[in-house]
Amino acid sequence: MSRRAVFLDRDGVINQYNSDYVRVPSDFEFYPDAEEAFRVLGTLSVPIVIVTNQSGIGRGYTTKEIVDTIHAGMVKKVERWGATITSVEVCPHTPTDDCHCRKPADGLFTRAAEAHDLQLTGSFLVGDSWSDIVSARRSNLRAVRVRTGRGAEPLPVGVRAEVTVDGLFEAAQWIAEHWDTPPPRPASW
Ligand SMILES: [Mg+2]
Ligand SMILES: [Zn+2]
Repeated sequence: MSRRAVFLDRDGVINQYNSDYVRVPSDFEFYPDAEEAFRVLGTLSVPIVIVTNQSGIGRGYTTKEIVDTIHAGMVKKVERWGATITSVEVCPHTPTDDCHCRKPADGLFTRAAEAHDLQLTGSFLVGDSWSDIVSARRSNLRAVRVRTGRGAEPLPVGVRAEVTVDGLFEAAQWIAEHWDTPPPRPASW
């Protein structure tokens, strides 16, 4: 039976948002509450999937190899904090590549779901950008928006997260509290 999961955006959620792209490992800086957040998520014992647009690859600002190195370090650190990242799904494309994986498209979610037998409906997403929230809604995920990163930017008309919280730690707590509660009816979002 497929399992629900927690999907996390990366930049502006787990690590500091950098409008100039995370190009090298030293650009990657965890938010101070990341450790506590992953400790909470680890207690849930559910799959954790990172879904991240990294157009810096397609733009030539960084490479897939460097991004993989950054992610290997991230996964290792998170493991030390008591949580296991099931997979890191990366879109390397630019907006003009017209791919199916760059959020707000849903390709990163469906790819992870197929590879790891995950149920998207009723899974949770934590994101800062409008594109995270739109992609989550497309796949029937419960969207938690954080105020960090690009969290202050407006959402498209008619699009709402189920809840907005200060940061990843509060998001993890909210997910832990709501994991077994049914989602609200879409009309009330
Ligand atoms: Mg982000
Ligand atoms: Zn893509």
